[in-house]
Parts: sequence; C-alpha cells; structure tokens
Amino acid sequence: MKHYFILFLFFLFTHLFYAQTGTPYTIVISLDGFRHDYLFKGHSRVLDSMATAGVHASSFRPVFPSKTFPNHITILTGLYPINHGVVSNSMYNPENNKKYRMSDAEQVANPEWYKGEFFWETARKNGIITASYFWPGSFMSDESRRPNYSIVYDHYLPYHKRVEGIITWLTLPEEQRPHFLTLYFDATDTYGHDHGPLSDSLFFAVKMVDTEVERLINQLRSINLADSINIIVLSDHGMTPINKSREVSIKPLLDRFKAKAYDTGIFSWIDCEDAQVDSIQYALREFSSDIEVFKPSEMPSYWHYNTHPFFKKLFVLAKPGAELITSNRKMEYENRGNHGYDNYNLDMHGIFIASGPLFWSNYKTGTLNNIDVYPLLCRIYGITPDHKVDGTLDNIEFILKREN
Ligand SMILES: [Zn+2]
Repeated sequence: MKHYFILFLFFLFTHLFYAQTGTPYTIVISLDGFRHDYLFKGHSRVLDSMATAGVHASSFRPVFPSKTFPNHITILTGLYPINHGVVSNSMYNPENNKKYRMSDAEQVANPEWYKGEFFWETARKNGIITASYFWPGSFMSDESRRPNYSIVYDHYLPYHKRVEGIITWLTLPEEQRPHFLTLYFDATDTYGHDHGPLSDSLFFAVKMVDTEVERLINQLRSINLADSINIIVLSDHGMTPINKSREVSIKPLLDRFKAKAYDTGIFSWIDCEDAQVDSIQYALREFSSDIEVFKPSEMPSYWHYNTHPFFKKLFVLAKPGAELITSNRKMEYENRGNHGYDNYNLDMHGIFIASGPLFWSNYKTGTLNNIDVYPLLCRIYGITPDHKVDGTLDNIEFILKREN
C-alpha cells in the first residue's frame, strides 16, 4: 500500500511539474484605493516607468459599489457582486442571522459568503500552483478553496516582508513553485481616507507602495525571473474628497417611520412596511438633494445591483463628496476621503498597469473594466472557464501580444 502511495506522489509531482513547465508567471499587485490620477505626479517613479514601458489604461472602472471587498472579489472571479455574493464590505444574511464584517476574521474565512470561483481555484483545478500574500477571500477555512499558499491577513505585517514572502515562494523547487500570485498593500487607501486624495500624506503613501514595487522587481531580477514574470498592478477603486457640510443624517427620519437601515457611510438599504415604501422614499428625497433613493426596480441597470437575497425595500446612495449617516455615530472621514459611490464617477476609478512578456510595450489604452480581469487571466493560462462569467475577454484581450 505504501509503495502505491509513493508511486501516487511521484505521479502527482511529475504531473504538476510537466503541467507547470512552460506555464506563464503572473503577479497581480493590488494598491488599495490608488486613484487613476495619482501617477505621474512625481511620487511614483517605478510605477510611472512601468506604465510608460508596458500597458497603461487611462483608468480602471470598479463595479458598483466601489468598495474594497466587492471589487477585489470581482477582479478575481469575473462576477458582479450580486453573483459572487460579497455585495458590500458589511452584510447581513437574513436566512441564518449571520453578519459579515471585514474585521470579523471568522466570517471573512467562512466560505458560505463566497459564491464565485476565484481565479486561484480555477488555476488549481488546471494544475497551476497559486499563492497569495493577501487578497480578500484568500484565507477561507476550506483549504480547497484557498490558493496553495496563503497567509491569514495581517494588516500590520511590514510591506517588505510581503515582498520577501513572494520571493521565497518563487524560489521553491519548480514542482512546488507558484505561477500565479497576488500581493496587496493598503497604504494608498488608508492615507486617502485619513488625509484626502492628492494630499501630501497621500503622496507619501504613493511613494511607499512605489518603493515596494521597486523592491519586488529588484528581487525578481536577483532570482533571474524579472524578464519572465507578467506583473499586473491595479487598484480596487479610487477616492474622492469628503465635505463635512454634506453630511446627510437620516436616522431621525427613519425613526419616525420605524424603518431600519442596513449599512451606513455611502449607501444603505432601508427595510420598512410595504405600505410605507412610497412615503419614506418621498420623505428622503425631500430631506436632502445630496442623496438618491431607489426602489430596486429603479436602480441603474449598469450597476448590476438590483436583486439579491440580502437587499431590502429602498436603496439610499450619497452623491460623490457627501456622506450618509444612518446611526448615531459621527461621520467616519470628516473632510478627507471616501469611496463606494457610483462606479462611473471618474474619482472612483483606479489604476491598471501591466508589463511582462505577454503584454504589449508602450501601449496606452482607455478605461478598462475590472470585471474583465478574470477572463484575461484565463486567457493567459489557456483555460476555458467551465462556468458562467460576467466579464468579457473581448474587452481586454487586445492588451496581450498577438503571438501568445
Ligand atoms: Zn479598497
């Protein structure tokens, strides 16, 4: 029996080895909240030169809502949030009373919330070894749904250690070495919230993440992989300045109707008696011109955000620069920055840069959609997805060299 097992392991490793030989390498780096226009302002020498030498999109459109978790998961599943399940950073499932919050490690690891197939799952099914130095959803409690190598999220882990972790994985023997990797840095989001977009502090964060990209490239050079790795640098959303005078506090109005709000900050679902829907919608619209109030059937179709079991009767969305307060707590980011607004608002757009052997050089293009990254990754690895995907390869394939 033992012999058969050793033989099995031998075939497994030789299979993986041969399956991986010739497999492209790709690292997807997410710079959280890096707005499309932070580049070329004198604080991102390395990213600017990558953008000039490789593929650079004028902006990178998030899906609605332009929040961190829904977008990171769209990028690696090719699905709209209503289809991959993470419809917001905070969620409440009325069927089992479970709550999802980014800070709740147990629920963030609970695979029940994640209905889509991440690219690392697709890749693993196709014999490609994968690794992640952080990505929302990358540390599910079900090992089979994680990258082959992943780390439980540590917000305070120094950035250089993340880069070193990537290099350690890439120096493993070929039969254990990942060919698809993700890397994540939060600084541009954190500083954008705390100090506002285009502030000196924000550009300090731009320089910080630029230094880490340089560190990665230098270390890839030292292990002779710099020329054979495809690097995609992208962000999940942008950032817009918040004006304190545009705080819209709707709690007293909702209390008057005994209506309940789910979520606060940029948008909220409102639950109430059926007979009150029209009155509450009317009252909210009268209350402030800095919010929009929709019944699900009235929501813009380009949001792809009108039907989901977690949704309620009315959806209230702040206009860019305004904030919606549905509880007694104060506004989160006074006079600084926030995101989550309409995904066609240009301030919500992030960056997309790609360089490496598969991508065109010196190639400028217009806005790309983040939902099309999953089909692009499938194309890079020669995989045909075996399930329905919302993203479209035709919208992004032109950034790849034709001979690939
Ligand atoms: Zn984010």
